[in-house]
Amino acid sequence: MRFLSDNKTFLALLIPFIALPWITIGNYHLLLFNFSHDRLEVLGFAHEIGTYALIALIALLGISVAIIIALTLSRFYCGTLCPNTFFAHILSRVSGRKNSFLSKLLGFILLGLLSFTLAFSVIAYGISAPELINALRQLTFAGWLVIFLSLLMIAEVFMVQGWYCAYLCPYGAICAILPIEDRLTYAFEDPENHCTDCGGCVKICPIPALDIREGFDIRCIQCGLCESACEKTFAKSPITSLIHHDKRSVLQAGGKSRGIMIAIILITLLTITSIITLTDAKQLDSCRLENIVLY
Ligand code: SF4
Ligand code: SF4
Repeated sequence: MRFLSDNKTFLALLIPFIALPWITIGNYHLLLFNFSHDRLEVLGFAHEIGTYALIALIALLGISVAIIIALTLSRFYCGTLCPNTFFAHILSRVSGRKNSFLSKLLGFILLGLLSFTLAFSVIAYGISAPELINALRQLTFAGWLVIFLSLLMIAEVFMVQGWYCAYLCPYGAICAILPIEDRLTYAFEDPENHCTDCGGCVKICPIPALDIREGFDIRCIQCGLCESACEKTFAKSPITSLIHHDKRSVLQAGGKSRGIMIAIILITLLTITSIITLTDAKQLDSCRLENIVLY
């Protein structure tokens, strides 16, 4: 139950994320960056666009959305929506000496299936799902891309997960340089010295050498695993946990909220203008090279 409540936001959004590439209205999709036909499909309408313009559009939307999420949700995203944190929650349940071989095996199968589903869904936003199934059967480029991405996710989870979050994740880097406070922070409070020094909170933390008892650490992804570990330590005592989270509203986390709102409006306007420019039909005629398949 605790697992479901800790991951409810991720699980609630996972289903629409997986379902979206399958939804069509008439002949076109609800949302598809259709690389096999050089067109953008939105809300059942299709718009011809060159391959490079399609790539630029995805990069632009990805960067703009990441900055807007970082400006509002900050690392709240890492703790609740990032698949890597969801993987960390599964791993915390199945790894460890106390768990049986069977539960470890089931955990590994679950992680494998989830990685494959996520990889398939990500690529299915760039080529229609039935075409992607064919690509997997015939092992063409898109099929290999799904396999490669799934293996990459599995390797990342088992080999460098916390290290990736702390040092390599571009979203974490955006959060670290923006002048905002985190929307959710975990803090250790023990005025009456109840800590048993069991080390549970440190052992379970996915980030290498992070000890929440030493104070705030900018690498914390706010997964809340330390809080659950401490709860277990005090399961038979009236103390609930020595680690608690402090939730702030989006605007509080945004610090000087007026500045954040202006930044969000400017980014949105810039993104809309760039999308209109990139999807302008005149661009097709001036880019014969990238649209060669259209002629
Ligand atoms: S300190 Fe706690 S909340 Fe932060 S990353 Fe480690 S386990 Fe997660
Ligand atoms: S899990 Fe709780 S009791 Fe154990 S070391 Fe961490 S803070 Fe102390």
